[in-house]
Amino acid sequence: MALKYNPQEIEKKWQERWAAEHIYEVTEDSSGTKFYALTMFPYTSGDLHIGHWYAMAPSDVYARFKRMQGYNVLHPMGFDAFGLPAENAAINHGVHPYDWTMKNVEHMRHQLKSIGAIYDWNREVVSCLPEYYKWTQWFFLKFYHAGLAYRAKAPVNWCPRCQTVLANEQVVGEGFCERCGSQVTKRDLEQWFFRITKYAEELLDFSHIDWPERIKIMQRNWIGKSEGAEISFGLEHEGVEQKEIRVFTTRPDTIFGVTFFLLAPEHPLVPQLTAPERRHEVEKYIAWCRRQTEYERTAMGREKTGVFLGSYVINRLNGERVPVWITDYALLTYGTGAVMGVPAHDERDLEFARKFNLPVRTVIAPPGWSGKEPTEAYADSGIMVNSGEFSGLPSEQGYDAICNLLERKGWGKRTVTYRLRDWLISRQRYWGAPIPMVYCNKCGIVPIPEEDLPVLLPSDAEFKPTGESPLKYCQTFVSTICPECSGPARREVDTMDTFMCSNWYFLRYTSPKTDDAPFEAEKLRYWLPVDLYTGGAEHAVMHLLYARFFIKAIRDIGLVDFDEPFRRLFNQGTIIYRGDKMSKSKGNVIAPDEYVAELGADAVRGYLMFIGPWELGGEWSDSGIVGVSRWLNRVWSLVETGYTSQAAELKAEKELLHVTHKTIKRVTEDLERFRFNTMLAGLMEFTNYLSRMQELGNISASLWQEAITYLLLLLAPTAPHLAEELWARTGHPYSIHNQSWPKWDEELIKEEEITLVIQINGKLRDRLLVPVSITEAEAKELVLERERVKAYTHGKKIDKIIYVPGRVVNVVAR
Ligand SMILES: [Zn+2]
Ligand SMILES: [Zn+2]
Repeated sequence: MALKYNPQEIEKKWQERWAAEHIYEVTEDSSGTKFYALTMFPYTSGDLHIGHWYAMAPSDVYARFKRMQGYNVLHPMGFDAFGLPAENAAINHGVHPYDWTMKNVEHMRHQLKSIGAIYDWNREVVSCLPEYYKWTQWFFLKFYHAGLAYRAKAPVNWCPRCQTVLANEQVVGEGFCERCGSQVTKRDLEQWFFRITKYAEELLDFSHIDWPERIKIMQRNWIGKSEGAEISFGLEHEGVEQKEIRVFTTRPDTIFGVTFFLLAPEHPLVPQLTAPERRHEVEKYIAWCRRQTEYERTAMGREKTGVFLGSYVINRLNGERVPVWITDYALLTYGTGAVMGVPAHDERDLEFARKFNLPVRTVIAPPGWSGKEPTEAYADSGIMVNSGEFSGLPSEQGYDAICNLLERKGWGKRTVTYRLRDWLISRQRYWGAPIPMVYCNKCGIVPIPEEDLPVLLPSDAEFKPTGESPLKYCQTFVSTICPECSGPARREVDTMDTFMCSNWYFLRYTSPKTDDAPFEAEKLRYWLPVDLYTGGAEHAVMHLLYARFFIKAIRDIGLVDFDEPFRRLFNQGTIIYRGDKMSKSKGNVIAPDEYVAELGADAVRGYLMFIGPWELGGEWSDSGIVGVSRWLNRVWSLVETGYTSQAAELKAEKELLHVTHKTIKRVTEDLERFRFNTMLAGLMEFTNYLSRMQELGNISASLWQEAITYLLLLLAPTAPHLAEELWARTGHPYSIHNQSWPKWDEELIKEEEITLVIQINGKLRDRLLVPVSITEAEAKELVLERERVKAYTHGKKIDKIIYVPGRVVNVVAR
């Protein structure tokens, strides 16, 4: 009797052999078509859970499939190793972030190896190592010299609990810290920014990439392009030098409806425009606003607040004096920090006018307008009224006419604004790549020369949650010499946002050992752009937007010659357990290790793909994985039991060929579409079919062998260890993973066809050619779609449809 399937033994054995024989190492082979299959590198949190495997196992299956199809496949793995949790571990447990991180890397590498993936471990990158972050710093310098990095004081999102500045993208929901859930507040700090806004327009162009629609929509909304006009309002205020304030509006056609003018409380002109008798109230209000989050300030339906400054601006189009107010819903971070109040045509402005008894003047007439004050703001187009020489024009025409006038008079211009802000990359943290700049009293801001990189993190920093970088208190780090004048200077103590590290890790995989450049140009040219990028959709407006910006920026710097990093993007769904997304805090995390130890990596891989369509995810169940494990056991015994041919029958052999080639086609097409679950269903059906053949023994032994060979080849990407073992046991030369993907023969999958007779109430009315394997439901559906059947049953009620398999479909209708 055959041996029992023992995944623990065979998985270890083959993993060792694959590693020893370097089977998955790849080079730039110019004869083969390259395929760069990239999976988002994991954050070094300490443990891989099933959610990680759900990102990695199916993408490995796909990479293996492409490899067998003859592509030269690069499918690397590494670690996103800088970031807050390492530093928090240092604060809470007294472990150095480096030690904490590298211990996690080691553990996770071990876990990742148990997946049995085709990762070429020679290419591993770890973003917190100096040989990597040296180049992260090098890119910073390139950005600086190209005018893409600058320093500015700005109000920043501040998490009081994490004691750090957060990027806008890291503020979630109603103004909460993405990491710890605390309410985010504001602070002013000198920071480093990257000029991502320079690329706003190009980032809106998705025409050369195949990405999910929802990610494109999220990026488009995040960039938030609006077209409109910038309009100058006159300012004649004693003691104020500035003679105008500019506002951005998407509706210049409503300019005659302006009845008040709003400034953000933080607007620099506010102190000067505040009348002495208003000062006390204004200052009180500003202090109150500073305590609000941006989300609270702009939330719809929130009660409007504001204070009159006691001063006016001039609407140049009608010469009116317009009172200036401050309100929290005017944001300094959007447009110019000023808003023209048009209550008749903007909901929030109308609420504001109602609250403070300000006039409401309709200037775009809604259809059937009675001339009365509106009950709600009318934001659509219409005929212009109360608009001087423009009255009577359709508002679309008025828009152009007013813009033309503004431009002619020099009072404004057509313009475009974006919601996108420049990317704040400074973090007041230790565990990140130090920003390679120094401050010299004589020379000012001075970049570190490239040849002096890396600026190493000192190992002796102290970790205290002070809100300032621990580097600030590390004198050996801070005190340095100015590269320009050799005088004493101070180092920048902030580190870079870790999204800077993940901007380029996929470039480094192409030449991870190169030490005189971030990558070798030739190798990069061969592998990039990435052909398929897989990972979670939660990265839509952070990593996935920053990486696009980064590539465009270094393209303009002359380092690469392509425009987009990731040609195709696929977001896997989420694995649910006990009704919830797995997370440590909810305590519903499933560790893959015990399942691997008990049922084998192949079973875990298979089950994860069987759970549902990859982009949707599904619910983990212990009985489900046992089912997949049983199937693998059946495959094992099917092959190991062997086959004895009783008497070969032509019909049975023909059918076997037909089923085999249909399976090859189905598995191939399902893999191409990431339909792993239906692919596995197809393989399971094929296994069952072969089991029946085995019992009947009515095909030749050679045909049996051929069918088994195909089964193993189709199984190889999903269950690489089992397939390799059975490949060897059936006498094939090592390795199955160097075999070509099977091709199906169209001739063999052609269905035999038969003619169905179609009757209506027993009378022959039509005939239909169908495949012999047609099901009753399919036949009925096809018949009801026939034009002649529709004609004969028109106006009648179909009582029933009688199906005589392979012969007649009788439609009974009254
Ligand atoms: Zn926080
Ligand atoms: Zn100097």
